[in-house]
Amino acid sequence: MIKLVCPECRRENEPERIYCHDCGARLDRTVLAKAAPKGEDAKETQRRLKSMLDPGRAKMRLLFFKTSKVILGALFTAAIVQILLPPDAPPRPKSGDFPPQITLDVENAVLNRSTAPMQYSDAQVNAYLASALKGKQAALSKVLQFERAFVNFDENVCRVTVERSIFGFSVFTSTSSKVTLKNGTLTAANVAGSIGRLPVHPLLMKYADPLFADLWAALDREKKAISKMGAIEFHPQALVLIPKQ
Ligand SMILES: [Zn+2]
Repeated sequence: MIKLVCPECRRENEPERIYCHDCGARLDRTVLAKAAPKGEDAKETQRRLKSMLDPGRAKMRLLFFKTSKVILGALFTAAIVQILLPPDAPPRPKSGDFPPQITLDVENAVLNRSTAPMQYSDAQVNAYLASALKGKQAALSKVLQFERAFVNFDENVCRVTVERSIFGFSVFTSTSSKVTLKNGTLTAANVAGSIGRLPVHPLLMKYADPLFADLWAALDREKKAISKMGAIEFHPQALVLIPKQ
């Protein structure tokens, strides 16, 4: 396409223009006559002219960008609000509550070759976690101040939530897993996750692993003890540890 170069500001103008788009200087249109008309058909010229002169189109484009910005902004804000909303969290165990000694129970069961299943409610496990983690603050992340961890049990699903504080805000990250214990190996397959009330796809949850790494490390003794059991079961509000039969 031939461009009309402005003699004043050197801007390349469309061949249909008479005055420069930028500075308004009169363009030298004689170059158009000199240049051999190269194959550009009338339709193409018409289309180009139409889009150049159509003010509606420019307005629509501006409106589209403005609207997109507003929508993206709203989505971002909504996501942040969801992230900052706490999930349904159990009350913090009172310091007077005497938590069950789950690890000790497990170690005794192994020692005494007991085969009786041991059952704990999620409230009991939470009381245990609160007391067990109290002595392990040093091992827990200081960057994002660890506040507490708690569990919710459902049929075959164990959800672990960690509350951390960032600039005084509490942020809860949850991971739901199918936990199995087979031949002394405890494995957890993530099935769901969330940050605050914002659900996170299980495939993305692996990127959230570092948010739980310090907790898993702090619970290493518990993990080793439970691995000595024969099986682990999760039911609504209940954890069942079954010794090797
Ligand atoms: Zn110009």
